[in-house]
Amino acid sequence: MNFSSKLLENAVNEVSQLPGIGKRTALRLVLHLLKQPKSQTHQLALALGELVDEIKLCKNCHNISDVELCDICANTSRNSEIICVVEDIRDVMAIEGTAQFKGLYHVLGGKISPIEGIGPQNLTIESLVNKVKLGTVKEVIFALSSTIEGDTTNFYIFKQLEAYKIKTSTIARGISVGDELEYADEVTLGRSIVNRIPFENSL
Ligand SMILES: [Zn+2]
Repeated sequence: MNFSSKLLENAVNEVSQLPGIGKRTALRLVLHLLKQPKSQTHQLALALGELVDEIKLCKNCHNISDVELCDICANTSRNSEIICVVEDIRDVMAIEGTAQFKGLYHVLGGKISPIEGIGPQNLTIESLVNKVKLGTVKEVIFALSSTIEGDTTNFYIFKQLEAYKIKTSTIARGISVGDELEYADEVTLGRSIVNRIPFENSL
């Protein structure tokens, strides 16, 4: 692409770094930003700046939060004896959308994937084990997507927790193999949590 403006070229290059955005789409988006009122584009830049500078991870569940302890962990009416293990905030949002789960979450930050170079040490597994060690957790529910990486991660965590004699369960497979949780409809996902099965039975 031949740009008549270096400023335009820089902006297009930055936008095209985003997933799924090629150079042509980036150019269209940047031209749109140039056409709209200046104040609106400044608002976008401000929101992104604040996001990266001020976002936190909840110190208990590692979910994305504006404050040290997220709203879910800070809510005393929730059951802290049941912890639902998920990959990221999208899964928390999907499960919260079902209104069927009143426990707390533990956000792993990904799944074990040797191909992508993600090992257990890159996830928040140790923090989960430490939580269970404290003795107040009665059940851990695995709610990772049912892919090879999800199954590997579930099994690894199951082995880490085996010594602590707590209940481990996995969401019932109304969710078909390979599905990501965030794409499951709320009714199906809600049912799969309510009808969860002992983890051993899923092996
Ligand atoms: Zn939290």
